[in-house]
Amino acid sequence: MSTGVTGEKIWLDGEMVAWDEAQVHVLTHTLHYGLGVFEGIRCYRTDDGRSAVFRLTEHVKRLYESAHINLMEIPFSQEVVTDAILDCLRANHLDEGYIRPLAFIGSGAMGLHPGANPVRVAVAAWPWGAYLGEEGLEQGIRAKISTFSRHHVNAKMTKGKTCGDYVNSILAKREALLDGYDEAIMLDTEGLVSEATGENVFVVRGDVIKTPPLPTVLDGITRASLIQMARDKGMTVVESGITRDELYVADEVFLTGTAAEVTPIREIDHRKIGSGRRGPVAQELQEGFFDVVAGRNATYESWLTFV
Ligand SMILES: *Cc1c(COP(=O)(O)O)cnc(C)c1O
Repeated sequence: MSTGVTGEKIWLDGEMVAWDEAQVHVLTHTLHYGLGVFEGIRCYRTDDGRSAVFRLTEHVKRLYESAHINLMEIPFSQEVVTDAILDCLRANHLDEGYIRPLAFIGSGAMGLHPGANPVRVAVAAWPWGAYLGEEGLEQGIRAKISTFSRHHVNAKMTKGKTCGDYVNSILAKREALLDGYDEAIMLDTEGLVSEATGENVFVVRGDVIKTPPLPTVLDGITRASLIQMARDKGMTVVESGITRDELYVADEVFLTGTAAEVTPIREIDHRKIGSGRRGPVAQELQEGFFDVVAGRNATYESWLTFV
């Protein structure tokens, strides 16, 4: 069975198993109703020839917080899952790649109430290049404002990465691609800019960088890292509501996320953004980010866990 991505081993419920043997029963509860939680983490080759996972502690902590929000108890400690992530990289001989921890509800009860079904955990890792393309990183991508709203904060809780919530993202992503764009930007139920389907949004206008406040967006680890790096460089970053037309008249708009890293947006809804190319702020922060993950900036070395 082809999974599109391949490797040798996957960590499943405490053991390293062969890639093709990491399978589940079709009556796995999460498969039916979407209650599961996951993370997306990246490991980078550093300039000194080693490999480092970016902000591993924060990602593992958020996995457990996502589970806690959803009343799921992960039957392994954070230390065990952290080790599993590092072991997965080694077992698959990856010096660079994407890591996907997933906690899901196994089979047993089949109603909405998951009963006493076991909470199961998998960790997989595979090579993954730029999520929105190498060209996107350099030239910027084209986005549209989605016709789908982000969930109201009391419908989908925004602090966790919950599997089922991503149906909303998938609807928006597919609509954007079918309409010829690279990504969708979603508005919240009040009509303000929320986030992209799996990335946070930043806007630059004059000397100010703005990003939507936390209530309707995921507390992105890349978002937090970029805010800190920008402030450390003396840039002004404010978290406040952004309207759709504020994006149109911005000097720059860019996205951040583990998968998308720092991706500029050159056009939204057929309106050119700024110069229609990667802007200077996006470029400076993007280069700063790639310096950090490659171990070229000692200031942020505590963000790296060497494999
Ligand atoms: C994962 C994700 C992000 C980005 O978060 P990172 O921690 O930077 O990877 C942003 N928005 C959504 C909806 C996400 O799922």
